Amino acid sequence: MRERLSSEAYVNGILAGDRIILSRAITVIESRLQGDRELAHSILQGILPHSGNALRVGITGVPGVGKSTLIEALGTHLTSLGKRVAVLTVDPTSSKTGGSILGDKTRMEELVRNPLAFIRPSATGLSLGGVARNTREAMMLCEAAGYDIILVETVGVGQSETLVKGMTDFFLLLTLPGAGDELQGIKKGIMEMVDAIVVNKADANHAQQTETAISDYQNALHLMPPASSGVPVKVMSCSAIENKGIAEIWNLIAEFENTTRLSGYFEKSRALQQIDWMHEMIRQLLEDSFYENNKVKTRLPSLEAAVKEGNLLPASAAKELIALWLKQ
Ligand code: GDP
Repeated sequence: MRERLSSEAYVNGILAGDRIILSRAITVIESRLQGDRELAHSILQGILPHSGNALRVGITGVPGVGKSTLIEALGTHLTSLGKRVAVLTVDPTSSKTGGSILGDKTRMEELVRNPLAFIRPSATGLSLGGVARNTREAMMLCEAAGYDIILVETVGVGQSETLVKGMTDFFLLLTLPGAGDELQGIKKGIMEMVDAIVVNKADANHAQQTETAISDYQNALHLMPPASSGVPVKVMSCSAIENKGIAEIWNLIAEFENTTRLSGYFEKSRALQQIDWMHEMIRQLLEDSFYENNKVKTRLPSLEAAVKEGNLLPASAAKELIALWLKQ
């Protein structure tokens, strides 16, 4: 294991915008070692007053839709406007397969080398809840390091969209032309979560299919309840590879930010996200403390056996274990 710095050294390095220190601090927050958890806590405490200032944008879509190509194009556009951009990923596949859908080394080649950009794929081998916690904490560190925009990328698998929606200010769904079949495959729940739908690969030779896709999505949206942000969900197109429609996507996001800041929705939504996070942390910490308790660990196997054999109700076993844990 690489040597750790003092928490002040991490905090000062992050506040000075040192990318190497930022990277090492993210490694600390990703670590499960008890000593690292304590160090992570004091780093987060130290940077807390300096976090929260970035615009947080979530981007989802099936593998192959062009998320990393779009992020490369959008990130490059943003840095050309003088903005500092951090890219984080929530990748539920990485823990299962060892390899990651999002972790391909060749992705975002240009942005990786851009001094105004910082890219960090999600750690592997964690539960989705663990990935979400890391991403939230990494986001705070990036904000303290002065990044203006955080792009959080996720593959639309399982609960990952809900998690990313719950930590971002603007949530974008990337899709493909030829929507007919595509539309069937998109979960209704996602359509209700998004602030914009962008049809990618709207290259010059896909004009007709793109138009059809846009109107299909617009029709589908008409059947949905109005967005809670108060801003109607916009459907637009882009060609990430031809760099077309990228500035328009950014204009849309910036306009959304302005409108929702004025209406008060922006702050309200952030505050609710913080409260949700707190409850999520309570659940996680309680669970960790319960399963790490020695009395619980000792008693658990025999109660599991009794439940398995049908001699004990699961609820009775749970109550007994919780009583043991509380008695410590
Ligand atoms: P991801 O899995 O969603 O991150 O998708 P990628 O960004 O890796 O893109 C998947 C493939 O689609 C790559 O071969 C890209 O070059 C290609 N691609 C991405 N954007 C476009 C586009 O606008 N037009 C076309 N024709 N291909 C694209």
